Amino acid sequence: MYISTRGNFEEVTASEAIRLGMVPTGGLFVPAELPSLSREEILEMQGKPYQETARRVMSLFLPDFLPEEINDCVEKAYNENNFDHASIAPLFRLDSHTYFLELWHGPTAAFKDIALQLMPHLLSLALQKAGVKRKIAILVATSGDTGKAALEGFKNVPGIKIIVFYPYGGVSRVQELQMTATDGFNTYAVAVRGNFDDCQNSVKEIFADEEFKKILAGKSYELSSANSINWGRLLPQVVYYFRAYLNLLEKKEIIPGERINFVVPTGNFGNILAGWYAGRMGLPINKLICASNENKVLTDFFQSGIYDRNREFKQTSSPSMDILISSNLERFLFEISNHCAGKINRWMTALKETGRFDVDTGTRQAMEQIIAAGFAVEEETLSAIEEVFETGGYLLDTHTAVGFKVYQKYLAATGDKSKTVICATASPFKFSSSVLQAIKGKDYLSGKDEFGILQELSRLSKIPVHPGLRNLEAKPVLHRTVCERKEIKAQVEKILGI
Ligand SMILES: *Cc1c(COP(=O)(O)O)cnc(C)c1O
Repeated sequence: MYISTRGNFEEVTASEAIRLGMVPTGGLFVPAELPSLSREEILEMQGKPYQETARRVMSLFLPDFLPEEINDCVEKAYNENNFDHASIAPLFRLDSHTYFLELWHGPTAAFKDIALQLMPHLLSLALQKAGVKRKIAILVATSGDTGKAALEGFKNVPGIKIIVFYPYGGVSRVQELQMTATDGFNTYAVAVRGNFDDCQNSVKEIFADEEFKKILAGKSYELSSANSINWGRLLPQVVYYFRAYLNLLEKKEIIPGERINFVVPTGNFGNILAGWYAGRMGLPINKLICASNENKVLTDFFQSGIYDRNREFKQTSSPSMDILISSNLERFLFEISNHCAGKINRWMTALKETGRFDVDTGTRQAMEQIIAAGFAVEEETLSAIEEVFETGGYLLDTHTAVGFKVYQKYLAATGDKSKTVICATASPFKFSSSVLQAIKGKDYLSGKDEFGILQELSRLSKIPVHPGLRNLEAKPVLHRTVCERKEIKAQVEKILGI
């Protein structure tokens, strides 16, 4: 069963937690009790494919789903049409203690595909189980990346329509084409004359509009969201922590039971939290290293015990980590304070009212045992890309480069020689301007458009352009609607036929 981090809701089944997305009275769903795997059970998964690990790990959390249902979700998500690598999440060895876990082989070239290719199928089943006859409308406001991953994940899933709003002229040309060229009978991408906040606020207003939700219910629709506050998006991420460990065992890089580190480029704290759950289930993890860019709220928090979002928001070359409120930290704090909902309520109220909270010494000590944290500034990030390319012949994207730099600092500070897996969260081609600038200098970019930059990066690295970004300029544009901010609700009505 699943419970609320704020102790304000009844226990629900896994399928209800996934269908509801978030606790309706505020708070996030977490498992009431965590399943575990013994050392033998973990070792038994060696030599088996990614899909088998996914079935094994996820079924422990989904008791109200049948094995064949879980199997069906796994096969629809993790196959050769969706991922351009048979291992789904292969491991690259940089040196005797550093490995990159490539989580970007899915259709949109970022790690979010691993969850968003699977979660729509779980949601679809969850609706069936609840006997919900209504159709679901997923509304997404995006600054670029999440929109495309959600469109691809929900495309052609029965009973669901997905509508993505993005700022007109506010996303890169590649990102825009990725979205406007999406096919599928149930996908909609709408450009809004406004910025990302306009999109996000309008979508939030629609979610809070009780009158509108009644009208939708009358037309047999309910609203849902696709971001990482939904347990269904977190769970598929637990799997690749196990797979990475098994991969190291299979290659005899580690011995059974050996503890390893994971470095996670972090924004909303979803990915690293999935790693924490893997550790709690029995995976031998030494440290989870939380890597931030210049928006280093989390580094400061893990070092001081004070979470303070009252600071300047910085735009960096790793935009998916430009975030000052990490939603999934709430789940982590609930877990390490032994399910103390009272503390969570206190901290989250303080965060809402003052933008800050501080945790007690006991909680701080519990955090320090498992988490190490650090950050990288812009110059460090770009020079990390250059360094790894020049010395290791391996190309990092900007987010992964933040992770690498933070690992170097951690290594220098601690001397910890544990084998370390760095989560590579995006393909370098997804952030090709910054990556090309890092290896060739800023002047090299002049006169090249985004497509020229992709080609040039491919030529220099001798790696083909990621399939999700290839030939984009030749794809037909299927979504052309541009609307004003105040027309967002009307667009939803029009698309849903209300
Ligand atoms: C979303 C994202 C992140 C941050 O992941 P969280 O789960 O939000 O912490 C890091 N890197 C890339 C490329 C992303 O798209």
